[in-house]
Amino acid sequence: METIGNVLISEQQIDDAIARMGAEISADYAGGELLMVGILKGAFMTMADLARAITVPVQFDFMAVSSYGDATKSTGVVRILKDLDQEISNRDVLIVEDIVDTGLTIRYLLENLRVRKAASIEIASMLVKEGLQETPIEVKYRGFNIPPDFVVGYGLDYAGLYRNLPYIAVLDEGNLP
Ligand code: 5GP
Repeated sequence: METIGNVLISEQQIDDAIARMGAEISADYAGGELLMVGILKGAFMTMADLARAITVPVQFDFMAVSSYGDATKSTGVVRILKDLDQEISNRDVLIVEDIVDTGLTIRYLLENLRVRKAASIEIASMLVKEGLQETPIEVKYRGFNIPPDFVVGYGLDYAGLYRNLPYIAVLDEGNLP
């Protein structure tokens, strides 16, 4: 049975990061309008909190993706389960992620969205795992760099559970299969 290990990032630290990221985004897009694209399911919490910290006009859309492969490692092979509802040509798009690990998922999404001719595409992610990006990905707005442990909470799951934790914790993988 897996267990929840140490709290890595507390609720207060998340709140502070959201406020900081929201202020950065609001300043950068001042006078403009933003289309936030949340990547389901994990980004739903970051999306909801970040949106409330942004002061420029915002519209929302969502994509759902699933990566093939085992539960705790990314394979980079991404399947789109739900595409955007709207056109993004000439829009300023902000992709909102919960975590960037190898960067393969976000790289796939960027390639997929770039051909749709957005005016700009930037990335906001609550977490970026340090040292693991197989290709350098510019995550312009980021909450925290974290070590390469498997984490849960604040939208992130293990086997569908723990997404509702208001903090981010390391999953004790010692007993995982
Ligand atoms: P990447 O393609 O960047 O390696 O991984 C992206 C996806 O893998 C994330 O959107 C997330 O679904 C999953 N993932 C990567 N690291 C973690 C982690 O530490 N915990 C959880 N719950 N999911 C992770």
